[in-house]
Amino acid sequence: MKILVVGANGQVGKHLVSLIQDSGKHKAKAMIRKEEQASYFETIGAETAIVDLEGEIEDIAKAAEGVDAIVFTAGSGPNTGADKTLMIDLDGAVKTIKAAEKAGVKRFIMVSSYDTTREAIQEAPESFAPYVVAKHYADEWLRGTALDYTIVHPGRLTNENGTAKVEIAREVEIGEVPREDVAHVLFGCIEADSTIGKEFQVVSGSADVKEALGKL
Ligand code: NAP
Repeated sequence: MKILVVGANGQVGKHLVSLIQDSGKHKAKAMIRKEEQASYFETIGAETAIVDLEGEIEDIAKAAEGVDAIVFTAGSGPNTGADKTLMIDLDGAVKTIKAAEKAGVKRFIMVSSYDTTREAIQEAPESFAPYVVAKHYADEWLRGTALDYTIVHPGRLTNENGTAKVEIAREVEIGEVPREDVAHVLFGCIEADSTIGKEFQVVSGSADVKEALGKL
């Protein structure tokens, strides 16, 4: 399979591109936003597409042409304001979903956040609420499409080394999960069609990723 990784230059994104490239059976296409980010991906043999998520749907659709799946793992990050949260985490995500439809790519895997329910919006501290709102409506939009989607809700991300051991269920107690392990889960979803139409929370645990996904 060829997989378009949107947000490939991000921390989860880089782990995922490496897993895809190292698999020997799939190929990653890294969607990045700056020319100077390309050489890293070229070195590991991944194709690149330079597209800013604040741009046109058409440009994202062009990047998605001919791929078999899209993983959205972009985000405006914690150091920008609510304006960028709206533009990337909501509008960028929905534009990527529309681009998938336009390009005829059915498989779509979304990196959401731990809890994107309406209750979570109401309970979020004021500074965090716009992010939860953005993720809530991006998830809602994806659920309303005919795409073969999976929505992954990770706990608090860390930069610890991955163990590929996780706890996965529709609801798990809040905890941490290394970004590398989120990448393992995303890779597992790419390979497991049984995750289509499903969404789940993930934190560190004791189950192998494949086994945990298989029990969903
Ligand atoms: P990250 O390192 O901040 O990566 C985000 C990526 O999005 C970056 O590569 C960034 O590009 C890209 N991006 C931002 N604006 C863009 C634009 N306008 N056009 C194209 N790309 C753009 O994030 P992460 O830590 O890997 O997290 C991945 C996902 O997990 C995010 O969706 C985040 O919301 C979600 N999440 C986070 C937590 C947490 O505890 N932090 C928990 C659950 C879920 P540049 O590299 O060019 O800046």
